[in-house]
Amino acid sequence: MTEPKKWALVWAGPIGSEELDELFPNMSERYPRTVENLLMDDPDSFEQVNSKQFRYLLDRDYIEVVHDAEYIAEIEEQYECAGAWEGENAALATLAGISFDSTVIAAALVANGTFDFAYSLASGQHHAKRAQGGGFCAYNDVAGAAMLFRDRGLKPLIIDIDIHAGDGTQSILWDTDTPTISVHAGSIFPYDPMVKDLEQVGKRHTFHWPANHAYNCVLEDRPIDESLQWAMNEIDPIVRRYAPDVIVFVVGADGHVGTPQNMIPTADASYTYSGFDATARRVREWADEFCGGRILMTGAGGYQPLDHTPRIWANTAMRLGGNR
Ligand SMILES: [Zn+2]
Repeated sequence: MTEPKKWALVWAGPIGSEELDELFPNMSERYPRTVENLLMDDPDSFEQVNSKQFRYLLDRDYIEVVHDAEYIAEIEEQYECAGAWEGENAALATLAGISFDSTVIAAALVANGTFDFAYSLASGQHHAKRAQGGGFCAYNDVAGAAMLFRDRGLKPLIIDIDIHAGDGTQSILWDTDTPTISVHAGSIFPYDPMVKDLEQVGKRHTFHWPANHAYNCVLEDRPIDESLQWAMNEIDPIVRRYAPDVIVFVVGADGHVGTPQNMIPTADASYTYSGFDATARRVREWADEFCGGRILMTGAGGYQPLDHTPRIWANTAMRLGGNR
């Protein structure tokens, strides 16, 4: 009997930092706690991969593929990124680069067949645009991974379920034929007319740009598990039409019920563990049907860093990676 194939948990060493915690209390704790949960759930099902050791897999610098040179220079040389953080901050600039690299390297490991499923732990910077940061995000690793898959001859499709729209990812990939699908609440950040119908904010609707392969399932205020399920049903024909080779799944956990509303409004979203679980199951089914099982998972927002956020990420990774 052959051993089941392991999946990859990709990161680059300790990510805890005071600077990250200044953006949101205990934010850096979400990562080690996710790893603890995964080790508790099934330590034999995955391998921990230090992305630094696989940097040789990248044949070009993907930050330069998805961001403008001047924007990169501001982050690398002045440590500034308007929209992502205030003023000069070398630690956050460094972390942004590590996070980007980890996701792109995780994508390379899936593309070359080493793993069918990889989860880039500290990642999912979906608000970053080509020359503009947003909502803690400086370098768009989701778009970077998509570009790597394209380079390797694979057709990626992006599904983003963070409660905030994947505006940066849609914007960077706008002129490509890579589909970007975002499921988000409409009445909150980002206030970008490209990801929602401003006349219908607060109501459930779709807002698609088929010519640019950009799709948005915009949820009502106080979205629940059934809202997520509606979105997955809307997405189903889109996935079938594109028949992708790999799904990039951006798992923001900030739609979870009870997420504090005072610092980061979430439209009072009320997803439960079972809503995240059902969504992960759908993604796994599509990946098994179209992609030979290939999935790249990233995090994104998640503002219950000590308990629910790491639990949701671990549950989702186990659902996507289990029994490979
Ligand atoms: Zn978010």
